[in-house]
Amino acid sequence: MRQQIAAANWKMNLGLDGAKSLLSDILKEDIALAEQQQVIFAVPFPYLMLANEQVQKAGYAIAAQNCSNKKSGAYTGETSVEMLQSIGIRYCIVGHSERREYYHETNQILKEKVDLCLEQGLVPIFCCGEALEIREKGTENDFVRGQLEESLFHLTAEQLKKIVIAYEPIWAIGTGKTATAEQAQQMHAFIRSVLAGKWGQNVADDITILYGGSVKASNAQELFSSPDVDGGLVGGASLNAPEFIAIIKALKK
Ligand code: PEP
Repeated sequence: MRQQIAAANWKMNLGLDGAKSLLSDILKEDIALAEQQQVIFAVPFPYLMLANEQVQKAGYAIAAQNCSNKKSGAYTGETSVEMLQSIGIRYCIVGHSERREYYHETNQILKEKVDLCLEQGLVPIFCCGEALEIREKGTENDFVRGQLEESLFHLTAEQLKKIVIAYEPIWAIGTGKTATAEQAQQMHAFIRSVLAGKWGQNVADDITILYGGSVKASNAQELFSSPDVDGGLVGGASLNAPEFIAIIKALKK
């Protein structure tokens, strides 16, 4: 079975004390993960090393929420993939809609970030997804296909297999409005068909595709039970220990 992932995206939340106590409340819970399951915490940059040390004992992983599209040099305020690699970070979110919208990250910039992650052995969690106007026009498939084509289609099959994709409809992020399990399944199946068209069905079948957009303890099981939904990228609900623990437990066994 493909890897099933519960990924927490803390965004720009929590001071150090809050971060430590949230993590320790989750780590206290004895959750027996199946072999194909993984739990990832995308924590703010200042907590990466500390959090990485803490979660390793539980077999969980840490992600950065972003990285630079430049290798190194005079880019004040940026964090390179090489730096992340050097402190043992294994995953990096690339192209979250908040980065695309507020920091004007284009598909070309995201392509560069994906390449740098792969070069340094980090797994990019590549986010895609449409805004409400696009869904209302009924052009969400074309839009998402364009994001995949422009940022990922230059990769070889071997490289693609090292990527996780997160489908996050923007209209469902932080709004409390979740895609229905049917809407999520339709888009995930579409994304998989786009991957299959380019790299073949066997490759497409190996790629983990997460759903993100107001995942909560109360809807996780239904969303994750869809055949092409391989877990979730979770914002708000990941800041609450019992909620996130329940979401981890809702992963496919
Ligand atoms: C996200 O930030 O990736 C996200 C999906 O947020 P939320 O779960 O709060 O909608």
